[in-house]
Amino acid sequence: MLRKSSRPPRRSKLDRLLTAPEIAARRERLAEVIPLLRERLDPCLLCPRHCAARRTRGQTGECGLDDRLRVASVARHGGEEPPLSGKQGAINVFYSGCSLHCRHCQNWPLSQRQVGTDLTPAALADRILRKWLQGAHTLGWVTPSPQIVPALEAYVACLDQGFDLPLVHNGGGYDDPEIIALLAGIVDLWLPDAKTVSPERAAAIQDAADYPQHNREALEAMVKQVRAGQARAVIVRHLVLPEATDDSRQVLEILWEAFGNRIHISLMAQYFPTYRTENHETLGRQITAEEYDGVVAFARELGFRHGWVQQHGMEHGIPLCCLP
Ligand code: SF4
Repeated sequence: MLRKSSRPPRRSKLDRLLTAPEIAARRERLAEVIPLLRERLDPCLLCPRHCAARRTRGQTGECGLDDRLRVASVARHGGEEPPLSGKQGAINVFYSGCSLHCRHCQNWPLSQRQVGTDLTPAALADRILRKWLQGAHTLGWVTPSPQIVPALEAYVACLDQGFDLPLVHNGGGYDDPEIIALLAGIVDLWLPDAKTVSPERAAAIQDAADYPQHNREALEAMVKQVRAGQARAVIVRHLVLPEATDDSRQVLEILWEAFGNRIHISLMAQYFPTYRTENHETLGRQITAEEYDGVVAFARELGFRHGWVQQHGMEHGIPLCCLP
């Protein structure tokens, strides 16, 4: 078993370490769940696209992936929400490929061009464990859904070495609730996006008119796990876009009506035009401080108290409850 050398950081109830019984229970659960998920890999039904690609036969799905594990980077990142990155940072695994096709994707070379390196689950586990030995608060998986099977196999190899950081599932919020349910007792912190509640905008921007419906169902499945004590929290991220503050307000209203303060929200200000929005008539600029501050004020008016906001142009950091 690997041993860590660094002095342990202070932790909250969100980023506390897994106990030995929790690790044992998780390994048992993974042994049940991985074969069930593998059954949905070919023909692939792992995300709401249900594109049925024959991935084990080399076909690529709408996410651009076959059955190989492809990872863009494994890095420690200090700019996540405070309980996720703390002082030592989060170990973020950026998976290549994505089943959404957001025209403004801020990580588009990874998500839309599948930039990355093919790894075995054991090689990915090795990279994660090396970062763990340097100290970190959480393990964050960024866009893991299409590669959930090899990602979980790598996670098992980490747990076999005593890996005890909480697992964060950071995705676009376009997930099948049945898959989310299978991950109960494995994911500690859900970190989904809520991009829009408008099917028209979702069709135009994400190439997925059914995004709002699946997003709602996925969030319900995640919140259910928190209520059942199977996960610690759901932190819903929303990226404020230019000329779209009405849409942001609708997203917040629906989240408030459905979940109230049972979720944390994280309002993001860092949008910049890229990929297919550089000359777009509404998405071709950054947001203004006025646009962002208006959305933050609206969240406060609704009653949200758990979550974080950014200072315009800076990383996550200010607790919502601390705003005047
Ligand atoms: S994960 Fe990829 S291959 Fe599987 S259904 Fe979704 S888009 Fe298709």
